[in-house]
Amino acid sequence: MIDIQYLSKRYTVDTLPFSALDDVSLSIRAGESVAIMGRSGAGKTTLMNIIGCLDTFDAGSYQLDGVNVAALSDEKLAHLRNEKIGFVMQDFALLPHKSVLFNVMLPMYFDQTPRREMVSKAKTVLEKLGMSAQEKKRVNQLSGGQKQRVALARALVKSPALLLADEPTGALDSQTGKEIMQLLLERNREGVTLIIVTHDEQVAAYCQRTIVISDGKIVQDGRQ
Ligand code: ADP
Repeated sequence: MIDIQYLSKRYTVDTLPFSALDDVSLSIRAGESVAIMGRSGAGKTTLMNIIGCLDTFDAGSYQLDGVNVAALSDEKLAHLRNEKIGFVMQDFALLPHKSVLFNVMLPMYFDQTPRREMVSKAKTVLEKLGMSAQEKKRVNQLSGGQKQRVALARALVKSPALLLADEPTGALDSQTGKEIMQLLLERNREGVTLIIVTHDEQVAAYCQRTIVISDGKIVQDGRQ
């Protein structure tokens, strides 16, 4: 599903060139669950943003399901992202003053899904994540764990093939974090490819494969 070859991402810091990612090659098959680990500043977010088609790169290649991502226009890239990828972030990135249902329906507004279909799809995914009773509440009335369930529902509502999660349990207590991990792993068992950036060894232990990044390079890549 993901084929990255000799990928580099460079910044200029104080007039000196600096590689946030340096010659990274990586392939991930459909259906895998992968944890990306490494110290702060190692390049994890940069890699995740490139995999998520949110950021560009300077050298190398990236194919997502056989599509050469670098060759796409911004519009085509946005379409690909919207169709294939669900994002779950540590800070949830929800609209706090809007209802749970509205937040989950949001990704479908961009492709003019009929309202009735939006509502029905959002309700279905909220039910799956145990959030039906909360659907009319505003997001700022929810607990952290509930917010992350809503964020997960929003990420899943368009049935993405790839789920990218950046520290999805980072803001949660350990029990709630475990519950969120179980929900992510259930989706993975249903066939969704799962990539999680995490500092947490316990979170990584749930994944089939752990990739460790240091100074912009992959220094470890192992399957359990
Ligand atoms: P991680 O997610 O592992 O903490 P990042 O991918 O966020 O690491 O960052 C990797 C490196 O690239 C860091 O040294 C960071 O300071 C640098 N970096 C990230 N974004 C920029 C930017 N826009 N300009 C300059 N340097 C950046």
